[in-house]
Amino acid sequence: MKPFIYDYTLEDLQAWMKENDEPTFRAGQLFEWLYVKRVNNFEDMSNLSKALRQKLVDQFQFVTLTEITRFESKDGTIKFLFGLHDNHAIETVIMRHNYGNSICVTTQVGCRIGCTFCASTLGGLKRNLTGGEIIAQVVVAQQMLDATNERVSSIVIMGSGEPFENYDETMKFLRMMIHEKGLNIGQRHITVSTSGIVPSMYKFAEENTQINLAISIHAPNDKLRSKLMPVNRRFPFEDVMEACHNYIAKTGRRITFEYALIGGVNDQSEHAQELADVLKGMLCHVNLIPVNHVPERDYVRTPREQIFEFHRILERNKISVTIRREQGHDIAAACGQLRAKHMESTVG
Ligand code: SAH
Repeated sequence: MKPFIYDYTLEDLQAWMKENDEPTFRAGQLFEWLYVKRVNNFEDMSNLSKALRQKLVDQFQFVTLTEITRFESKDGTIKFLFGLHDNHAIETVIMRHNYGNSICVTTQVGCRIGCTFCASTLGGLKRNLTGGEIIAQVVVAQQMLDATNERVSSIVIMGSGEPFENYDETMKFLRMMIHEKGLNIGQRHITVSTSGIVPSMYKFAEENTQINLAISIHAPNDKLRSKLMPVNRRFPFEDVMEACHNYIAKTGRRITFEYALIGGVNDQSEHAQELADVLKGMLCHVNLIPVNHVPERDYVRTPREQIFEFHRILERNKISVTIRREQGHDIAAACGQLRAKHMESTVG
């Protein structure tokens, strides 16, 4: 199989040009065609010689992202189910806010983390995506927004998969997204979310970027977290917190904790108090997410009043906290839900 052109960084393209006896500035032209003009084939790259275009056609391919289905929510959220070259399917979401457009990308086909409330993990992990396959999701979204002169203004790595178990490809993706000669997306407008893969958290603290880090914490202690997230047995609660402290100390940046409120499981007032005690004095923010219903799981949502109570307890303890505004609820936009349905319909 020919390599994906999106898997090549600007430096890689320069090296390739050199090897092929082309001046290195051609790499810059190619990069511009890919990420600024955003064409989908080499033939259209009119300032490259015919011979060079042919060579590119012979040696590289574009990422296949075939639109299988698209769901549009009343609130403007669009969820895509894309088919890959090997017939796997992945989900990508565009969320429209009044302050801009946010893209939620997937980093793996399936997931092996096994969180008990999540749909992405239902069929296990199939394979990692390459950096280029993650990039393609943003390029396709941007191409769609080009029609109305809009931009992808922020990215969240909160689709299916565990980005920190596909670390190098995720970092390649991130570096390409923030490249000033490419899509040039503001670092502070990008968030990578992890279930707490501790060694990768230490690595990420050394990356010298302004990209935001979010941790899916979902419980205030080790015991409950292990029940909800089997990964906690591999990387216990205390180790995750220590890695968070290290990240804050190394980067001076605030960390975000995601906490999905599950009715009667982790949403009681004493859980809120315990969480507040753990996070006291830490440079952090808590994002409360009313759990999305996954048909295969029998969790229920926290009543509205208790969500507010949980929020109040954290606030009273001077923890910065918000309740996540929901989008796309009517189109099953939560992680992995669409793909799970698709697998059901193709398998069954
Ligand atoms: N694997 C990474 C990133 C993808 S998930 C991680 O775990 O952080 C993005 C977020 O959605 C995570 O916080 C995840 O725990 C949460 N999530 C998964 N299923 C959910 C559900 N049914 N309801 C609410 N949030 C969910």
